[in-house]
Amino acid sequence: MNIFLETYGCQMNMADSETIRSILISNGHHMTLEANDAEVVLMNTCAIRENAHRKIYGRLDILRPLKKQREQERRPFIVGVLGCMAQNLKEELLNHPVANLVVGPDSYRALPHLIDRIVQTNNQEIEASLSEYETYSDIAPSRIAGVNAWVTIMRGCDNFCTFCVVPYTRGRERSLPVSSILNELERLVKSGYKQATLLGQNVNSYCYEGERFADLIVKAAQIPGLERIRFTSPHPKDFPEKLLYAIAEYPNICNHIHLPLQSGSDRILNLMNRTYTSAEYLDLVKVIRRIIPTTTLTTDIIVGFPTETEEDFQATVQVMNTAQFNNAFIFKYSERKGTIAARDYPDDVSEADKTDRIVRLNELQHGIAFVKHQRYIGQKVQVLIEGDADKGIDRQMGKTEGNLTVVFPKTGLNPGEFITVEIAETTAGTLYAH
Ligand code: SAM
Ligand code: SF4
Repeated sequence: MNIFLETYGCQMNMADSETIRSILISNGHHMTLEANDAEVVLMNTCAIRENAHRKIYGRLDILRPLKKQREQERRPFIVGVLGCMAQNLKEELLNHPVANLVVGPDSYRALPHLIDRIVQTNNQEIEASLSEYETYSDIAPSRIAGVNAWVTIMRGCDNFCTFCVVPYTRGRERSLPVSSILNELERLVKSGYKQATLLGQNVNSYCYEGERFADLIVKAAQIPGLERIRFTSPHPKDFPEKLLYAIAEYPNICNHIHLPLQSGSDRILNLMNRTYTSAEYLDLVKVIRRIIPTTTLTTDIIVGFPTETEEDFQATVQVMNTAQFNNAFIFKYSERKGTIAARDYPDDVSEADKTDRIVRLNELQHGIAFVKHQRYIGQKVQVLIEGDADKGIDRQMGKTEGNLTVVFPKTGLNPGEFITVEIAETTAGTLYAH
């Protein structure tokens, strides 16, 4: 059948979509680029915040006329909701008049069989049981050509941060075998990828037959031709120095660490079950900068967690001022059904306060990044070219090792090639070379 697959949410979902594509293609299906050409439309969804759910309901509404048209023509049309939202809402989704297939993140192997069954019976199908073992490590992802490849090294999460739905939608933490990850990386190099990003909800708890994340990344760094290795995310609670020394030693492990802070208030961090204090976080930042002085540092922050006061918020401001992040992804707290926070802490910070705090933090971060990035003016940086810049076909863009975006006049070089440029201008988000 012709299948159209679209992906929402995080890098983990992008990686999962490549596994889904592989499962479907190896079962004789054909992937299309347009929903209108498809008999099956699949959405790989996210559940992390309420607006992720809203987006999918909006998309289902858009598909309603197409579904009606296909019914009138008596042609098959299957609309499937896959991934975290499927796991989170299960039967509720099947009550939607458009969706007739619901499949959770551990059940993708069942997709071909479920699609066949819907074609034969015209019934709805749901498969959303979580597994302690499923890693899809035997399935070679079907990737769309590019510069970077996402490589899942572990699935699920056991941390149970009180705000977070991931442990319920992606289940228990499990690591993929070292050998399957290394084989996959070697395959990637052979097919022309220059960069791999290793993915897990908390890469520092990676453990396969006694081998930890630092052991894995050192082995990966020794693969000839793998020019850049990135990873996301490490949890601040168990960041081993061994990993920092590996980043410092191997030039192909990128000097960029994404270290989610979530809040600068110890009271809120405790309610979030993050298991570190702001002082411990800042101590880790110091150690990171001592061992890898040139590293860039980015973070995630939630504003408006239940009971967050202006004083708690100011504690976050203080940590941001001290840590001096290159970039911060700042979110308004969104209550997720079934989480510990939803059960124990009413969502009592007003929408107006959440908006006010997110605006203030974004302004603060903008100012910090603006000053920080001015230091690059006059410096030469190596850039891995990713493609044309958004604004204008006469410019290209790429990333530094520290994951900073660089825009420069078009060269004769192609995506995947390296160029060294001298930075002439900077903004909070971008470096420019003439
Ligand atoms: N495992 C990663 C970690 O601990 O850093 C986080 C993965 S989550 C997909 C990405 C970010 O979404 C989190 O770091 C957090 O800032 C944000 N997030 C998670 N749950 C949220 C919620 N209920 N409301 C708002 N933001 C949330
Ligand atoms: Fe969610 Fe916390 Fe796990 Fe990250 S570490 S996925 S925030 S529970």
